[in-house]
Amino acid sequence: MTKIDLAGLGIAEAKNLMSRGELSSRELLSAYQSEIKNKNPELNAYLEIFSDSFEAAEEIDENLKKGAEPRALEGIPFAIKDNILIKDKICSAGSRMLQNYTASYDAYVIEKLKEAGAIFLGRTNMDEFAMGSSTENSAFGISRNPYDVLRVPGGSSGGSAVAVAANMALAALGSDTGGSIRQPAGFCGLVGLKPSYGAVSRSGLIAMASSLDQIGPLAKTVDDAELVFNVIKGKDPKDASSVDYDEQSDKRGKKIDDSKFKIGVPKEFFGEGIDEDVRKITDDAIDTLKGLGHEIKEVHLPRAPYALAAYYIIVPAEVSANLARYDGVRYGLYKSGKDLIDDYFKTRALGLGREVKRRIILGTYVLSVGFRDAYYGRAGKIRMLIKKDFENVFKEVDALIAPVSPQPAFKIGEKINDPLAMYLEDIFLVPVNLAGVPALSLPFGYVKRDNRKLPVGVQLIGQWFSESTLFEIGRQLEAHR
Ligand code: GLN
Repeated sequence: MTKIDLAGLGIAEAKNLMSRGELSSRELLSAYQSEIKNKNPELNAYLEIFSDSFEAAEEIDENLKKGAEPRALEGIPFAIKDNILIKDKICSAGSRMLQNYTASYDAYVIEKLKEAGAIFLGRTNMDEFAMGSSTENSAFGISRNPYDVLRVPGGSSGGSAVAVAANMALAALGSDTGGSIRQPAGFCGLVGLKPSYGAVSRSGLIAMASSLDQIGPLAKTVDDAELVFNVIKGKDPKDASSVDYDEQSDKRGKKIDDSKFKIGVPKEFFGEGIDEDVRKITDDAIDTLKGLGHEIKEVHLPRAPYALAAYYIIVPAEVSANLARYDGVRYGLYKSGKDLIDDYFKTRALGLGREVKRRIILGTYVLSVGFRDAYYGRAGKIRMLIKKDFENVFKEVDALIAPVSPQPAFKIGEKINDPLAMYLEDIFLVPVNLAGVPALSLPFGYVKRDNRKLPVGVQLIGQWFSESTLFEIGRQLEAHR
């Protein structure tokens, strides 16, 4: 067998090769595994490589040989973020608290991927409980950006991004509460989708902030991201916030009857603090869209500048509630103290990292008697106003274009001791989560830093359940990059 060009391989092509019998699932898997063996010691994308994936690949090869019709993701090797449960595998959420926790059931998205024939290579590194923008908050070491190993890959789904960018997986799942799919996709030159809230079930996702969390794909192309999204979306009785996607998108999403759209440029996303090269690449993308015949229009999201402040109240509040379950009694780590209260203190002191503790303390404060209305209540009102802004803007345009991050991948250590600087990373990302709309990040250029080429992404934001519009515009941009 000739060596497989993993860098140029997409899902559709891999499937074609397999169904024509030119490539077996086993061969594909072992090509990825040998990349992992070479690169993972330095890049630390994976926390664990699964030893049973060969069995799955062999079964697939058997079935294909017998002439079975290939399923949507037949034999496609995936990397899975370490906060998505896979039955009988450890799922640690990047935390010491869950270092030895084994999942007792499959997340809905894992069930769907299994039904579609996907293979799981391993679980990927992340910021602890998905809090962070660099993977530096992982309890199990940082991941490194394959474009420059002195830089972060972004976070919190950093390991998943590194796995795909360095050809250690063909696609990956991440989760996005405030940018954790789109920002690492941007930093690693990938396509990342944050689906509409409710499009993908959260059952089996270790909760961070439940009113914002969504699982989505990280992939090399828009086509690949769409293929994965189509497999994992849909209503699940185990997540009451999940919806019947097709029904919703018929009702609310714009139908693609045309390939030309009205695309808004939200003024508030182009203010101070953006790196000049990032601004230039975003402007190039806007010019490209114009050149393709789309109508470009300046629009306003007047309350978007308050999104970051509201997000960093709402998220800690939900985090403080969601993480209360890690008390040493029910899940994971247990450290014995002199009485029950002391057990809690000892377990949580040892099991949780600095950023997680910071958010639990903040969240407990903003929910406490006397402060709840002043902080949590007001943040909730701002959230509603931001949602309104998006509603208004989508009366005028079909989608929005914006930068993903204010600058390309930053250096390891650059922001980790300055929480505010790290939070500012999320400035163009969190309005989307607060409103619940979908957004696609895709690479659109490179910049040079320290003599290295670093990718820069742009973000397409759509109205609720209009992922198909984002894929369509994304594909056009991708073809003209
Ligand atoms: N940087 C964001 C945060 O720390 C990302 C969270 C996420 O999307 N999981 O909250």
